[in-house]
Amino acid sequence: MISLSPSLPLGDFEVTFYKLLVKETPNLLKNYREWEVGEVLNDQTCQEIQQKIAWWLFDSDPKEAILELEQLNNPSQLCGHVFKTGEATYTCRECAVDRTCVLCRKCFQQSEHKKHKYLLHSSGGGGCCDCGDVEAWNKFPSCNEHDVMSEHSAADAQAKLPTLLRNKAEVVFQILLDYIVDMLVTVRSEHDELPQSLQQEQPSDEFVTVVFNDESHTFDQVISTLVQAISCSPSVASDYATLIDREGRSAIMMGDNKSCEDCKAIVMDTAGVRSRRRVAFPLQTRVMHSSIYAHQEHALFLMSWLESLAQKSEGLRLILAQCILKKNISDGTSFVTKCMLTDASLWKGARGGYQQLILAVVMLHMESKRKFGVEFVRAYDRLVVDFLNDDHDHADSILSISVQVLTVPTLVRYLIVEEDLLLVLLKSIIKTFCNTLEEGGDDFDAVPVFQLDNRKVKKHFRRMLYVLYNIKYVLSNVPTDWDFNLHDKFKTFFKTFVAFLSAIEGMDAVVYKRDRHVEHEPEWETGITLLMRFIPIMKPLYVWCSIRKEVLVGCLQVAVGQLKKCLEAQRNPTTTVTYNGKDYTFTDFDILSKPVSVHVPLTRLTAGLLVQFGKLGLSLQDTETNMDVLKLAEHMFQSVCLCSQTTAGAWRRNGLSLANQVYYCRDNNCRAEAFDRDLQMLQLCAAQADPNEFFVLLHTRMKLNEPHKIAEYLTSIYNEFVSLLIYICVERCTEGVGQVTMHDIAKRELIHILASGPRPHSKISKHLPDEVSETPGWESILEEVADYKNATTATSVARYELKDSCLDQVSPCFYHFSTASHQTNAQNEVIRRKKSLNQTCIFTPNLSPQFTRLFTNVPDLLHSASLIHFIKDTLEKLLDESSSPLRWSDKLFEKILYLCGFAILEERERVVHDQTSQFQFCEKADKCGLLDCLSRLSSFPAASLHKDNIKWIHNGVDEVQKRRQGLECEDFRFLLFRDEESEKQKRKEQAAQRRQLLISQMSIQQKNFINVSPNLAQAAPSVEDTEMSQSSSQQTQETQGSSVDGPINPTPSTSQPPLQRETSKADLVDEPKLCILCQDDTENSDYLVIAAFVQRSNVLAQTKHTEEDLDFTKLPDLTLPAGVHVSSCSHVMHFQCWSQFFLTVRTKEESRPQRMRRFMSSFSTERNEYLCPMCRRLSNCVVPVISPAKLTSITSNSGPTTADVSLSDWLKTMDELVDPPEHVPQEIVAHLDVDMATPDDVNDEWHDASDAIPASQSSTVIMGTLDDENLDEETEEDSMRLIVNTMNKSFELNCEAGEIECEDPCLWLWLSAATTCQVVETVSRYRERPLMAPPSIRISQTLASTLRSSVVLAARHKGQFQKSREDMFKILLGKHSTPLLSKHMFVTFAHLSFACHALGDFPYGAAVNDKNLLKLFALAQIVQIILLTDVNQVMDEHYNDSVLSQLFNQVRSYANLPACHKVCHQKLEQMIIASLQPFIRACVLFTRYTTTKPIPVSLEQQDDFNTMLSYLELPQNIVEFFDASGSCSLDPLVQRWCSHPDVAQRCKEAITNNQLYPGLAQVKKLVELDTDYSDVIAKGANFVCPRFRSDDDSVNPTMCLICGEVLCSQSYCCQQTWNGRSVGACTYHAHKCNFGYGLFLRVRESTVVLLNDSRGTYRPAPYLDEYGETDQGLRRGNPLMLDPERLRDLHLVWFEHSIPEDIVWAMEGNRNWMNVNWDHL
Ligand SMILES: [Zn+2]
Ligand SMILES: [Zn+2]
Ligand SMILES: [Zn+2]
Ligand SMILES: [Zn+2]
Ligand SMILES: [Zn+2]
Ligand SMILES: [Zn+2]
Ligand SMILES: [Zn+2]
Repeated sequence: MISLSPSLPLGDFEVTFYKLLVKETPNLLKNYREWEVGEVLNDQTCQEIQQKIAWWLFDSDPKEAILELEQLNNPSQLCGHVFKTGEATYTCRECAVDRTCVLCRKCFQQSEHKKHKYLLHSSGGGGCCDCGDVEAWNKFPSCNEHDVMSEHSAADAQAKLPTLLRNKAEVVFQILLDYIVDMLVTVRSEHDELPQSLQQEQPSDEFVTVVFNDESHTFDQVISTLVQAISCSPSVASDYATLIDREGRSAIMMGDNKSCEDCKAIVMDTAGVRSRRRVAFPLQTRVMHSSIYAHQEHALFLMSWLESLAQKSEGLRLILAQCILKKNISDGTSFVTKCMLTDASLWKGARGGYQQLILAVVMLHMESKRKFGVEFVRAYDRLVVDFLNDDHDHADSILSISVQVLTVPTLVRYLIVEEDLLLVLLKSIIKTFCNTLEEGGDDFDAVPVFQLDNRKVKKHFRRMLYVLYNIKYVLSNVPTDWDFNLHDKFKTFFKTFVAFLSAIEGMDAVVYKRDRHVEHEPEWETGITLLMRFIPIMKPLYVWCSIRKEVLVGCLQVAVGQLKKCLEAQRNPTTTVTYNGKDYTFTDFDILSKPVSVHVPLTRLTAGLLVQFGKLGLSLQDTETNMDVLKLAEHMFQSVCLCSQTTAGAWRRNGLSLANQVYYCRDNNCRAEAFDRDLQMLQLCAAQADPNEFFVLLHTRMKLNEPHKIAEYLTSIYNEFVSLLIYICVERCTEGVGQVTMHDIAKRELIHILASGPRPHSKISKHLPDEVSETPGWESILEEVADYKNATTATSVARYELKDSCLDQVSPCFYHFSTASHQTNAQNEVIRRKKSLNQTCIFTPNLSPQFTRLFTNVPDLLHSASLIHFIKDTLEKLLDESSSPLRWSDKLFEKILYLCGFAILEERERVVHDQTSQFQFCEKADKCGLLDCLSRLSSFPAASLHKDNIKWIHNGVDEVQKRRQGLECEDFRFLLFRDEESEKQKRKEQAAQRRQLLISQMSIQQKNFINVSPNLAQAAPSVEDTEMSQSSSQQTQETQGSSVDGPINPTPSTSQPPLQRETSKADLVDEPKLCILCQDDTENSDYLVIAAFVQRSNVLAQTKHTEEDLDFTKLPDLTLPAGVHVSSCSHVMHFQCWSQFFLTVRTKEESRPQRMRRFMSSFSTERNEYLCPMCRRLSNCVVPVISPAKLTSITSNSGPTTADVSLSDWLKTMDELVDPPEHVPQEIVAHLDVDMATPDDVNDEWHDASDAIPASQSSTVIMGTLDDENLDEETEEDSMRLIVNTMNKSFELNCEAGEIECEDPCLWLWLSAATTCQVVETVSRYRERPLMAPPSIRISQTLASTLRSSVVLAARHKGQFQKSREDMFKILLGKHSTPLLSKHMFVTFAHLSFACHALGDFPYGAAVNDKNLLKLFALAQIVQIILLTDVNQVMDEHYNDSVLSQLFNQVRSYANLPACHKVCHQKLEQMIIASLQPFIRACVLFTRYTTTKPIPVSLEQQDDFNTMLSYLELPQNIVEFFDASGSCSLDPLVQRWCSHPDVAQRCKEAITNNQLYPGLAQVKKLVELDTDYSDVIAKGANFVCPRFRSDDDSVNPTMCLICGEVLCSQSYCCQQTWNGRSVGACTYHAHKCNFGYGLFLRVRESTVVLLNDSRGTYRPAPYLDEYGETDQGLRRGNPLMLDPERLRDLHLVWFEHSIPEDIVWAMEGNRNWMNVNWDHL
């Protein structure tokens, strides 16, 4: 026995520890026979070893020692909570330094940020809470709990530990860490042996086969491989696969070397062959000695123990952190370096283990964090290389820890200065992407030369993105002060960066394709993505550069120097161009023959730096850099012209690749470092160079000096060119270019985003430039320019609409309209709105803000001779189309006018302040004949649309000229509108006069007419009269209704139906129908049917139950287990037409290959499904349409209907029927007594009984013989049968064949009729709409068809099933072993009512039966309510005795229930009425559609219980129900019902299960959801997969909205087998919970899933953010609150049974849904 006694000296610990390990080695793993997936390590042994170490360490009971140590901890200042996957993280939009700063839920709840605007996300795992980190928050860095003053230093915590413990801890931790590193890092290759110190004297010959995770094999491949290799069941293999995926490896077998090798061979062979993606890429498998595997697993176990110790005691944590970082004297490496450097070759579990240790131990203290940072940066280069060759995700790699290190400003600063962090990061990118041509060397000014390797970029781009993010993190911590060291390091970094950019400059260059289209599209995505990913780096980079002027100057010099070098290297000759009589000398470059590129990052960097000068209010001299801007911008001119010409369509033959690049340059994602920079550079050139020279250069580069070369596209190129000129002169809303604030910028952007129509908040923020959307104040600016419009429907979202007052500020030539159609849309929308406001519809320019000093000369371009000449020249060409290839274009003309207008506006503004201003557009334009040209154009027919604009310009010129002469004048901008206004006003007045005249004439004529024929005028009542009469008729009805509130009418008149007028709504249902297939409306040729969908329904069920305990052949229990729901689109077809149609559909579907069907159609003909040929609604059967005439003919011919039969007489007859005085054979009596509720052989009982009872004996009276005369043609009977069979079959298939063997079509149809009735009733109650409000044709048609078919079918089957009917009567009369009171009353009533139609020569007709049945069942329902009343709800201190309360206790006494005193009469009455309502309401629907009895009109407007009762001819008072009309009291019957022995038992059950009224009568809703979505997320985060309690959970918690159970969705771990298929947890649960119709909430994604048998769809969860938008996928992260409207909508999906319908509808609309493997959800 080796013991680590506490007295063991420090020096001896190591030896003893290893001895212990050697001894325990054979016991570390479980015996192979006891292996379970994931439980290979022998937990007991490990615990024992750990306990021994702990005892030695603490010298006492470890548990108590740790409790004592916890007392020594300093109050924590840092939370440091490490996030689990799916846990909610909060960040404050107002206070967080950046979006990586997050709080845990607990800290957030007690922090100040709760009151701020915050974002909520669900964590991807890893990372920790930043609460208490002063560097992470601008304000309120800590929550209430972590808000402690830092009085205690870290060393303090360590010093508080007892000395002995401290010394022991240092020893133990170091030895354990060494052991761990040895096991994980050193022993890796296949043939390695354990270190000497652990070797056994007699090593066992046991080996294990270990399978490792890789990303190239699918789950299914691994599963099938394992099934073969270790011959296990698929479910065990699936568990192994899950484990391998989560932990990275797993031993799958243990045995001797040979068998392990064999097993390995099978795995390698099988998986290699099966993997189709990579040829012969075997699943990584290794055979290891079992002791090595055992020690590795044990090392992981110890590692997590160390972590848990560190969490308990701060002192121990500090010691552990020191040990982790301590460098080994022999090789200079530490635990952490060793782990990091082998990271990529470790399996997932080992990586997770040590990374977790770093996060939870090292990262919690600044000093150890700093030390770790240093090690990390030193290893960075190597880690990146490893990561590139690693096939694991980034999250598994140690690189993912960088966000913890690189977001701490002080640490970053330290690392930049001491470890050259920036350069390290950048170089790792350059090394990966480029070939180095020339090193920078030691020469400080030398810039290295790199060459971009497109192939490398493409290959590594995705993984290198993470390094780019790292650079972004580092740069976004802008230093607040500079020192020499920092400057130095930054400068080196910047130089290298510039060198890298110059390697990208000119990437993906293209050459103009003149004659033929490109043969294959060149790859372009890499370049554009590179551009896009660099933007987040560029932004902070400019901030770094412009912190100090000298830094900025230095950077610009580097960039300009490099750019010059690039340009010189190209050695382009010069050429001379003549324009407007002047010569200009430029570099010669022909854009149509040389390679050009949209990638000019170096030029753009230069532009960006120059804009920073503008921002600081500096001039070009301040740059201290010698440059010729026009030459420097050469690449920019090329790329701008390339973009413009491509947009104009001139480069069409270069294919989509180029078009896409150009598109992205102007798109919101890239434009900040593309189009925007280009424009800024052009503006700078316009400002700094000679305007004529600038203009001619741009003109030349655009090839407008050689129009014949681009004749085909000339007009559109002109268009683009003029747009460019407008942008250059007008656009100033950029910091550094114009004198603008962020507010101005945001406002202008917002106005133009909203110009093309209202948009939701998220779309707006997506389209905003980043610098705007990142400023917290933009939302208040949004309020300034737009109005919030609430969502109009439950599926739409709220939007913002541009205010009317902002319409004028929309510019038709806004530079951020990314496409021509975007611009046109905005223009049209603004015109539409202006028209509706009666405003003028022309677009006139507005004044722009002032330029900054650097750009101040841009407007000179506007009055340069060249530009004015160009405008005039263009106008002349437009006037005379024969002179040039330029064609008339409204757009072009509009733009030219806009440009002129803007020039005039600019001049006017200057002249107002200075009459002698040198800006002389008007004069120059006049002189050169431009104005003349315009005047001529105003009479030009093509220009007639623009008359107003031309007039506007002339007005402007007039004003300017007057002002120059010193004359006072009005602002011309309002002249035109005022003219227009007065014009309009005049027109309005004229129109009013005309109207007046007309009216007076008419009234004279009218008078004359009335005088001539006075009778006519009286005969036609005015509108008011009709309304009056209507309301009065309503009133009379209402008074009728209300009168019954008073004393009860003792004998409600039964002989006279109340009203005989059919309402118009009923007519809707009974209109003649047109077959949608043959368009023929003749009914006689064939039977008519409607398309319908039948499904099993759980909606009304009050208890949870499983599919198994469902038996449709039983009368349902009062909690109504389940039903059958029918819905229909009410499209009518001939049965024959439908049969043919369905056959065609089926043939077509079956011709598809089996495996393709799921992806080809949303429905399955195997389940009898089809889509309605008219509306494509999902259907699976047809239901016959029965006209009221046919219904009457069937129901009226069975017995007397008008005879006034009292209930007592009727009862007496019934009594005799079920209890005939004649002799009944003994065996049959016995048979009858069999409890119907017993599950065995119910079918037999129901069906065979009819054979058992000789017709001649008991059933002579009840069952008539089949009356052939009553049947119509034979064909009708056939089709009817077929229909019901179809319905039956479709249904059977739907619920998996073989489970239900109900062969009685009647029961089927009857149950569905009853269910559908109740569902309609429930929905109307939920919607709070009157029950009999005019229903949609869909609902009325469905109800009418189902209910009437049930009646007709019953009539057709006279003589069958006598036994079951007889039984039902016995039940009703209390003479059967099945107690009536435990059954669902409405369903039983419906069954019996239908059954009565099948009675043949029954003594009474249907009307009499129905009336009396209804009375009895209503009574039974009341009795049931009384017995199952929740007595607490009817008792009251202020009780009063009444007849009703006496009756209440009397009835209860019949069932031996305790009497209930203190019953409040009012409460009791209310309770009974409320509970009775659903029954009565369902009966009203039932009667409405099974008879021709019309509904009182008042019920269509309003629900009124008493009117319903009188419609059903029921008494108005509850006590009255207990009296049969006449002398007979129903008391004996009630007594018989109650005294049934089963009733008392059922009552007891109901009380224990709390199935009591009024609750039982209430609508059963979906699971209650939290109001705040973060509560939902928090619950989801606590969820652990029920099968694998692993921390690394890729699980997707998904809640069943019907029952609330949370499942582990879309994961192999929880797959189950259903009907022979392996399905995901949700699909399986949907079958268990709701017959395969699932309604789920995916918690982490805020998404609702509708699921039904291999098909499904997603929709957003019913939560809205403060902007009225949903956030499906939880991407934006705004706080979400439950929206009642959307919740209602979700409930209606459930109540109205539209899950399958909605799914198919979505799938038909979006075929992508078909490609989802819904089964695996
Ligand atoms: Zn926290
Ligand atoms: Zn906190
Ligand atoms: Zn805050
Ligand atoms: Zn037809
Ligand atoms: Zn339809
Ligand atoms: Zn699971
Ligand atoms: Zn459920």
